[in-house]
Amino acid sequence: MDFLPLFTKLDGKTCLLVGGGEVALRKARLLSKAGAILRVVAPDITPELEQLARESGQCLHADYRLDYLDGVFLVIAATDDQALNEQVSRDCNARNIPVNVVDNPPLCSFILPAIIDRSPIVVAVSSGGKSPVLARMIRSRLESSIPAAYGRLAGLVGQFRDAVKARFDDIEDRRDFWEQTLQGPVAEMVYAGQEQAAGEMLSKLINEAELHPGGEVYLIGAGPGDPDLMTFKALRLLQRADVVLYDRLVAPEIVELCRKDAERIFVGKARSNHAVPQQDINALLVEHAKQGRKVARLKGGDPFIFGRGGEEIEQLANESIPFQVVPGVTAAAGCASYAGIPLTHRDYAQSVRFVTGHLKDNSINLPWAELVHGHQTIVFYMGLVGLPVICEQLIAHGRSADTPIALVQQGTTRHQKVVVATLATMVEEVAKNPVKAPTLIIVGEVVSLREKLAWYEHYDLASPSL
Ligand code: SAH
Repeated sequence: MDFLPLFTKLDGKTCLLVGGGEVALRKARLLSKAGAILRVVAPDITPELEQLARESGQCLHADYRLDYLDGVFLVIAATDDQALNEQVSRDCNARNIPVNVVDNPPLCSFILPAIIDRSPIVVAVSSGGKSPVLARMIRSRLESSIPAAYGRLAGLVGQFRDAVKARFDDIEDRRDFWEQTLQGPVAEMVYAGQEQAAGEMLSKLINEAELHPGGEVYLIGAGPGDPDLMTFKALRLLQRADVVLYDRLVAPEIVELCRKDAERIFVGKARSNHAVPQQDINALLVEHAKQGRKVARLKGGDPFIFGRGGEEIEQLANESIPFQVVPGVTAAAGCASYAGIPLTHRDYAQSVRFVTGHLKDNSINLPWAELVHGHQTIVFYMGLVGLPVICEQLIAHGRSADTPIALVQQGTTRHQKVVVATLATMVEEVAKNPVKAPTLIIVGEVVSLREKLAWYEHYDLASPSL
């Protein structure tokens, strides 16, 4: 992090603006909105800026001089004179006065973020000066997703902050109270413009709220890797959790999306090497929920597809602990899309089967005779170790040796790698061109469509929009 975001109080503070043009005017508006006393210095100053400066400070038609820094809280240089900008920056640094030179990050000791203003809620977005355009794009996305009423809601909440503090000693109890309130009917009333009723309800809740609401568990499918493939619900519940249990298949960027103060517990699970045995994971979920915590159990892909999600919530159901299950994009769907292999296609496959290729006692117990029927796609999860057996058995049971097969390694991530061959040649191909877990195997005629439909690996080269 090159710049630490801080919100600073400018009310009644003198701020020097060097420059008299349009850019200086924009900065002047911002400063005066925050209550600053403006000191604008430039030989030429636009009439609009002059008027603004006179209303809330002073306007000096002059060249910049060192003594204009006297008594100044911060400085913005908005001139097109590079030598002057450098001098202002040097002078300020020598006096430890924060300085911003517009569009020149190396000369800045602070930068101005893009802002979403729902006062008292203010969101600041910065790219550390690397790409203001990107920061503005992010701002416009946030603009549309943060209702204007959030400002009013924050105003109301502010009035009750002390009362809630007095009612709940424990910081976690306070957080729970606010989390429930801000997602419940009080907030809805504020959005609907009924602030007085919302205030009455809030004070009633403060007096009557039950402490220690029960814990619950969210079994969340995190998708196959790309964090963008998570659902809104997955993200929302993850950010509500006090504790997060995750395993190896969940990308670190996804775990990072949890609350900063949430406890994170890695429960391992590589192939046949369970860092934490399944019963212990089940027990951990119960234990944390019984302590009244909100527990997110993050799983790769979809929790109910080869995810043992069913086992994990069975115990919760036995103990009457509330839970929710959030579906995720399963590896088959994610890998197929990102590899350009439609799992079904009117000409090639009318059905698709998901099967496990997990070896037990060195053999894979599968209904091979059913898997060799034409016009179907077979997707093997956990099949990499059993690849030679899979190819051999499919051929032995009658599927053509020329049937195309794809291996998709770390699908949907930056490390995605796809190897295509036939049932007859894949084992040899992998010996030359090794892949590593997690890898998904797709068998069927649809694999040949990849030749035309592959897009992900070429995307940044091919896309005119990038
Ligand atoms: N519940 C998960 C599957 C867990 S089984 C889901 O719905 O996707 C683990 C197997 O999933 C791995 O052995 C591998 O075959 C497959 N897998 C999971 N993520 C993958 C990825 N990003 N790329 C390729 N295969 C993946």
